[in-house]
Amino acid sequence: GFKCGIVGLPNVGKSTLFNALTRAGIDAENFPFCTIEPNAGVVPVPDPRQSKISELVKPQKEIATTMEFVDIAGLVAGASKGEGLGNQFLANIRETDAIAHVVRCFEDENVIHVSNAIDPAADIEIINTELALADLESCEKQLAKVVRTAKGGDKESIAMKALLENKLLPQLNEARPVRGLTLDDNEQALVKSLFLLTSKPTLYIANVDEEGLEGNAYVDIVRGIAATENAEVVVICNKLESEIIELEDDERAEFLADMGMEEPGLNRVIRAGYELLNLQTYFTAGPQEVRAWTVKVGATAPEAAGVIHTDFQKGFIRAEVIGYEDFITHKGEQGAKDAGRWRLEGKEYVVQDGDVVHFRFNV
Ligand code: GDP
Repeated sequence: GFKCGIVGLPNVGKSTLFNALTRAGIDAENFPFCTIEPNAGVVPVPDPRQSKISELVKPQKEIATTMEFVDIAGLVAGASKGEGLGNQFLANIRETDAIAHVVRCFEDENVIHVSNAIDPAADIEIINTELALADLESCEKQLAKVVRTAKGGDKESIAMKALLENKLLPQLNEARPVRGLTLDDNEQALVKSLFLLTSKPTLYIANVDEEGLEGNAYVDIVRGIAATENAEVVVICNKLESEIIELEDDERAEFLADMGMEEPGLNRVIRAGYELLNLQTYFTAGPQEVRAWTVKVGATAPEAAGVIHTDFQKGFIRAEVIGYEDFITHKGEQGAKDAGRWRLEGKEYVVQDGDVVHFRFNV
């Protein structure tokens, strides 16, 4: 599975968000939910297309695809030097595929701010500096290694040395994240091999007041920073979300309608995390179950089959595919077949978002 780590300074609303996210999982019947550890939760990825498919197929059950969220508390200035829970904090971030960075954009006298002022730019900088310092150390170690091998003429070492000296180290020395650099494919592959913290895809979650969902100056600051470092922004009121999640289904629908919201803001967070990771969904649909599966954008049919079971990938023969729109327009598999919209695809086929797939395989 794919894992998104929730980070941020103390008292910005991380736990409130995490609790709302994990509570969101319990409500939906038949959706797999589990709490792995107190601070990790598996959350279904909301996808309205799945209900549309199910209306046609009428399966016994529906299973959503999921994403894991981890609440990573404990960051203080000095973490990169091992202060506080610093080392553990950095190790936890290293294990994630993406970072959701919660930033306080709400005012509330009753909630103490660690540096006594609401200042999103300063807050972001504290965290990004710690992460950049940790990366700086990794990069300096790496440079010491490749200096020798580069002298010996090793091509990859020469490229790595150039990348470190010309791009990564200057960026990190200014406490700027590596994800903000423009890199070519070769450089990206080299960066990947370094497992840096600041190269992880990042989503800023601007946590606002109920009144601050629009026209919030703090949010504009967050957006400005995100734009300079290839990061995304989601604006949400975590407190409101934690209240929405406590409501019964019908009350919730009414409440959302009153607020002029189509769905809980949490859904946007989950989907943003999903998109950040360059993930997409395909479906399997039969009378037993309609199920959503996650694959990387660009995955081939056998790779997609491997998400269900490695045997499906090894013994892959063909994929029967109906595009999502065709499936809906022609009211299911038979209709799509009659309309000539049912395809038999081979092992080179690149799976498209929303595809309804049935795999043929040898065991
Ligand atoms: P964490 O330390 O980052 O995990 O922060 P918490 O989630 O524990 O939140 C700290 C305090 O801020 C709690 O008292 C929350 O109820 C409060 N809080 C969180 N989000 C909001 C919000 O959007 N508005 C207001 N007014 N308070 C919030």
